[in-house]
Amino acid sequence: MTTTSDLDSIREAVKQLCAKYPEDYWLGLDRTRGYPTDFVRELTESGFLTVLIPEEYGGAGLGVMEAAVIMEQVCRSGAHAGACHAQMYVMGSVLRHGSLEQKQYYLPKIAAGELRLQSFGVTEPTTGTDTTSLKTFARKDGDDYVVNGQKVWISRIEHSDLMVLLARTTPKEQTKKKTEGLSAFLVDVGEAVKHGLTIKPIESMINHHSCELFFDDLRIPAANLLGKEGEGFKVILDGMNAERILIAAECVGDGRYFIDKASHYATERVVFDRPIGQNQGVQFPIARCYTEVEAAWLMVEKAAKMFDEGLPCGAEANMSKMLASEASWHAGDVCMQTFGGFAFAKEYHIERKFRETRLYQIAPISTNLILSFIGEHVLKMPRSF
Ligand SMILES: Cc1cc2nc3c(=O)[nH]c(=O)nc-3n(C[C@H](O)[C@H](O)[C@H](O)COP(=O)(O)OP(=O)(O)OC[C@H]3O[C@@H](n4cnc5c(N)ncnc54)[C@H](O)[C@@H]3O)c2cc1C
Repeated sequence: MTTTSDLDSIREAVKQLCAKYPEDYWLGLDRTRGYPTDFVRELTESGFLTVLIPEEYGGAGLGVMEAAVIMEQVCRSGAHAGACHAQMYVMGSVLRHGSLEQKQYYLPKIAAGELRLQSFGVTEPTTGTDTTSLKTFARKDGDDYVVNGQKVWISRIEHSDLMVLLARTTPKEQTKKKTEGLSAFLVDVGEAVKHGLTIKPIESMINHHSCELFFDDLRIPAANLLGKEGEGFKVILDGMNAERILIAAECVGDGRYFIDKASHYATERVVFDRPIGQNQGVQFPIARCYTEVEAAWLMVEKAAKMFDEGLPCGAEANMSKMLASEASWHAGDVCMQTFGGFAFAKEYHIERKFRETRLYQIAPISTNLILSFIGEHVLKMPRSF
């Protein structure tokens, strides 16, 4: 079991690694829509990006708690973890649902940095949050599946060797439950672009490398099915708690980043012959944000601990994501206000982080959908959809 001092050591080591990639590095990438190849390579080679892979497959075999500490520190250092965070949790689909052959083939290569599994393809333009209505269809044909359809906002696919894809294998109308008849596949992206997958980058508000995907008779070997045919929703659902907790940890990192910046600036910046932070109108909002972010971290810790103990933690994972994404957004807003006009200067970096942290109230799941989960599944109120 990892102790508090082990977690502190992890935090310190990640901090030192991130210090080699200062904020100007991230600003440069943001301007050019570049990918942090060197950073991701170093995070992988140092073992931090692969902590969740069991030791028998070449990873560190640690838990979501350690992974959360890593992602929190990455974001607190000013980096944009969205460039690589999915590698941590998408891997879980292979670990929990892959066959022994799939695990033995893919996991050591992912752990060694030879293969990148950074991408997951779920969202579609016409169905959005209503995942079970997605239309991309994979038809069985001999030893292959033939895929046709479209996805949107699929991040990092241009920088990934593999993607976990969710498609229908049985039309929704022919299933007893809407969550049935969906299947998950491991797609070799390099091969797929030669045989029917078209990738179109989306120009977006943040440097998240998100793309539209078009599938035109793409053949995927049946051997690449993850789990059983028709049970793909479970493959995706099982990865969601880890995803929510890690994104929440990133938001706490963003929140702490904003509070670090705001409290230092409020102490240094002198206007009307006094530090602006001496004015309680400036000081109190920062103190309030600190309180919100630290409270959110307690929920992250609770959810991570439950996850690592194998306990059901859907409610805690969702609550941590909601609380942390709202806390980081408030902290970003207060940081902007504290810096005044300078907040708008790119060289201060705040506006970039402000844009980046806004995402997490929408993706990977929006706040309304979390509230709906809590209302319905925790508080047992009437079902809405
Ligand atoms: C930068 C970025 C990166 C992304 N990366 C990926 C990725 O790698 N892979 C992937 O599969 N997806 C990805 N997504 C997609 C993301 O998960 C979705 O955008 C998100 O789940 C919301 O879906 P939507 O955009 O279709 O919104 P919609 O489903 O159209 O919803 C729009 C709004 O309406 C609200 N709403 C909808 N229905 C209800 C309801 N019944 N009750 C109350 N409110 C409701 C939602 O909360 C939301 O605020 C990414 C998105 C972005 C912006």
